[in-house]
Amino acid sequence: MHLLYLDDSGSAANVKEDYLVLGGVSVYESQSHWITRELDRLAESTDPGDPHGIEFHASEIFSRRSAPWKGLKPEEARGTIKSVLKVLANAYDTARAFACVVHKASFPDRDPMEVAFEDLCSRFDRYLGRLRASGDDQRGLVILDKSAYETTLQQMSVGFRTLGTRWGVIRRLADTPLFVDSRASRVIQLADHVAYAVFRRYQAGDAQYFDLIASKFDAEGGVVHGLAHKELGNPACMCVACMSRRTGESFRP
Ligand SMILES: [Zn+2]
Repeated sequence: MHLLYLDDSGSAANVKEDYLVLGGVSVYESQSHWITRELDRLAESTDPGDPHGIEFHASEIFSRRSAPWKGLKPEEARGTIKSVLKVLANAYDTARAFACVVHKASFPDRDPMEVAFEDLCSRFDRYLGRLRASGDDQRGLVILDKSAYETTLQQMSVGFRTLGTRWGVIRRLADTPLFVDSRASRVIQLADHVAYAVFRRYQAGDAQYFDLIASKFDAEGGVVHGLAHKELGNPACMCVACMSRRTGESFRP
């Protein structure tokens, strides 16, 4: 089984932000344990007295407003976020990053979270289809952070099978998405950092986190399938997602 852990960054309601990102990481089932162990180790170095009390939440680490991040210098906080992302950078190739960046003003009549969720389910399903074609016949499961989705996505997941039919693309998912508490799942905490890295890249033009994991996005033949940038009126966008698609199209016979 391949597990796609997702979390969001940015808020649908915050008018000061242009983008909302849903993103995370797909891992082979046994890799969840490896990632958990690596992040537990990082938590031990952060607070040897209470490593299990440490929750890696990128925006909280970055803001340094609450314990245990309050006493950190800005570069130490950035270093912690990068250390979390390096766990993904160093993971075996079956760990793939996925993210959808939604420019909220481009979809005035839709919930941006719904746009991103629909897009990522479809991308994950196609990824599983490609794996199947290469002999790895596995099902997939989407696992989401509970706190962020209690409104939109829990409702969507109730009608997931019907939605799957409506989209006509969801074939390889084993069940409806699961919702877990981010405090209890290190892999959800990694997903939070992936979403945050992508959000910083698009919202603030700050690519120092994104660059660490850029090569981990699902890609095939130079086209970065794992990253989607949904923004209207930006046909010459130079981001890796848009550029790789234009290049891929120009090479297609
Ligand atoms: Zn783009």
